[in-house]
Amino acid sequence: MFDNLILYLGLFPCLAYGLAAGCGLVLGSFLTFLFYRIKAREPWLWGKEAARSRCPSCHTTLKARDLIPILSWVMARGQCRYCGQKISTRYPLIEITSAVVFMIILYLFR
Ligand SMILES: [Zn+2]
Repeated sequence: MFDNLILYLGLFPCLAYGLAAGCGLVLGSFLTFLFYRIKAREPWLWGKEAARSRCPSCHTTLKARDLIPILSWVMARGQCRYCGQKISTRYPLIEITSAVVFMIILYLFR
């Protein structure tokens, strides 16, 4: 199966770049989570507080639909879906930057 995946990615470069961008978005989303938790001196790996992402303003635990990189931010118009607090553009920018970096790395090492 893994060999077939490598074959398809070689045959369809758009698929490879899409996969790289998707991995970059997920990593970027995780990095924003990590930066926030470290800056706020909150646990990020273990413990009850580290279990789920939540709004820093209203502390509502975010649902899966709120955690989709870029798309959730766009769909909520840059605001918390629960309290309306503005969400910084820094979050989607980090996700987009991470996706672009992943695609550049793929381009350089293909
Ligand atoms: Zn909120």
